[in-house]
Amino acid sequence: MATQHEFEALVVGAGGAGLMAALHCSKTVKNTAVISKLYPTRSHTGTAQGGVAAPLGNMEEDRWDWYMYDTVKGGDYLVDQDAAEVLAKESVDAVIELEHMGLPFDRTPDGKIEQRRFGGHTRNFGEAPVMRSCKAADRTGHMILQTLYQQCIKQNVKFFDEYQVIDLIIEDQVCRGAVAVEILTGEIHVFHSKATLLAVGGFGRVWSVTSNAHSLTGDTVATVLRHDLPLEDMEFFQFHPTGIYRMGVLLSEALRGEGAIFVNDKGERFMERYAPNMKDLASRDVCSRSIYLEIREGRGIGGKDYVHIDVRPETINKYKSGPGGKPVTAEHLEAALPDVFEMARIYLGVEPMKEGIPVQPTAHYAMGGVPTDLDTRVLADEQGAIVKGLYAAGECACVSVHGANRLGTNSLVDLIVFGRRGGRAMAEYVQHADLAPLPKNSEAYTLSELERIRKSNGQEKPGQIRLEMQKTMMDWVGVFREGPTIKQALDKVHELQARYQHIAIDDKGSKFNTDLLEAWELGCLLDLAEVTAYSALNRTESRGAHGREDFPKRDDVNWLKHTFAWRKNGVLSVAYKPVTITKFEPKERKY
Ligand SMILES: Cc1cc2nc3c(=O)[nH]c(=O)nc-3n(C[C@H](O)[C@H](O)[C@H](O)COP(=O)(O)OP(=O)(O)OC[C@H]3O[C@@H](n4cnc5c(N)ncnc54)[C@H](O)[C@@H]3O)c2cc1C
Repeated sequence: MATQHEFEALVVGAGGAGLMAALHCSKTVKNTAVISKLYPTRSHTGTAQGGVAAPLGNMEEDRWDWYMYDTVKGGDYLVDQDAAEVLAKESVDAVIELEHMGLPFDRTPDGKIEQRRFGGHTRNFGEAPVMRSCKAADRTGHMILQTLYQQCIKQNVKFFDEYQVIDLIIEDQVCRGAVAVEILTGEIHVFHSKATLLAVGGFGRVWSVTSNAHSLTGDTVATVLRHDLPLEDMEFFQFHPTGIYRMGVLLSEALRGEGAIFVNDKGERFMERYAPNMKDLASRDVCSRSIYLEIREGRGIGGKDYVHIDVRPETINKYKSGPGGKPVTAEHLEAALPDVFEMARIYLGVEPMKEGIPVQPTAHYAMGGVPTDLDTRVLADEQGAIVKGLYAAGECACVSVHGANRLGTNSLVDLIVFGRRGGRAMAEYVQHADLAPLPKNSEAYTLSELERIRKSNGQEKPGQIRLEMQKTMMDWVGVFREGPTIKQALDKVHELQARYQHIAIDDKGSKFNTDLLEAWELGCLLDLAEVTAYSALNRTESRGAHGREDFPKRDDVNWLKHTFAWRKNGVLSVAYKPVTITKFEPKERKY
């Protein structure tokens, strides 16, 4: 028997988006709960180093329309411009709200929030880099998470920590809550609610080299798909150019914001060739592809598959690449990037003040996900039908504000802007909505899924299937892809899905059975890998993070549209939705 709970509003996920939504919802809805498979402050938001964008203009002139332009251009014109306008305008107020909650931002000498440069952020519609990233050293995400969690506690939001949602309760296009397993005991809990917001983060664990935490398995994104609902723009997954070589652990783009440059085996600053204007501060898709091309042409360090990021003060001063072109000192860099340097020293044994740091592109961020409107309401199709009572915000959602490629610092701002909109939209909705009745046996699917995996005694090991999936996706649906190899990847994923039906796990118990839950997560990852490869195969152009070698050009005539992908009864299908263009007509993207 499952334990039953009833809440007006339910949030799944306790990262920045979930907490911001819960906080704002709880201002009017006293009966708000958050379910999280991790302890809230362990959510991936806490690892974000670089900062949160807002055109505050504290360091130099800045404007929301410059910021909107950068976001649209950075997303290679696949961004819905009404969403980008909301982001750019509401970012200022959202960051100031965090400041008023007590977030310890770095300060200028006269007490304003200090800002730094970040890739793709410019003044005057692409003229030159601008200082737009608000930060707390290189611990911005950590500070956001702590601040929001404290505020939620103050508001008496009810937390269910270390509960993992396995299913959503959706009937007749109305969401009625979620079903979760309490990780400690293995007990099933049914959460009945009027409104449910998904804020479950990304799914970088589909790939072998990734900056994403082990927990980023896209569980609930896959659950949405399993309810015959679409996912949007899944072919666009960002590879960040500065993953620690072989490990994928992220070294923040703040490095380049402080003036660090990429260097190849010949000691060349190769980004001068690929992006003559923005150079090392070009957007991430451009930098990642440039690194791959250097490696392919034999100019990786020692002929291997990595390049160096050089943050030595003498290099920065030689190229005048520091903030505002001003000279930097070792002391300044140590204060600005403490965690980045610590990671280079601990993980690589490299001394960043004396030598280059080995880096390679790492799977980093899902631009695609659960489609929503501007108020985070989940869309049931490309025509705009909605699933009542279901909302999504943060990395798992696709509103679409990042289009084909997200700019650095634009996720944190997305969390707080759309998390807040989601919280407010839920609060408004629950005032008028009735509690839709729970279907009978709403926990049946969850029970049978977990029992099937627990009891299965096939020959396949989940760990082996996971490795094969990650390697397949890295090799064939990575920074570069082309038709025949994407097709091979899709076939391989289908083979792995078939083998997944015959897995066996070692731990047959119910208490804290991470063996079981990780095996279940693998099924979710496989579904997401499948939809990603399928969406990538269909899009016969290159745009943002989707780099097709067989279709190297962007094709605005045929492809200025979002992919909506379904998987119904195991059959994949797609439909397309036009991009919303308001202010900026697509242009060739030059950096
Ligand atoms: C290393 C790193 C550095 C980054 N740096 C920056 C940066 O400087 N600036 C920037 O803008 N962006 C940055 N990003 C991106 C940004 O941090 C993330 O996109 C963002 O934090 C995601 O927030 P979220 O609230 O959507 O989800 P997350 O913070 O990932 O939280 C997901 C939540 O969902 C819960 N959850 C997941 N599945 C379930 C389930 N089945 N049941 C219950 N709960 C579940 C988890 O417990 C967790 O609480 C970085 C990302 C990484 C990986």
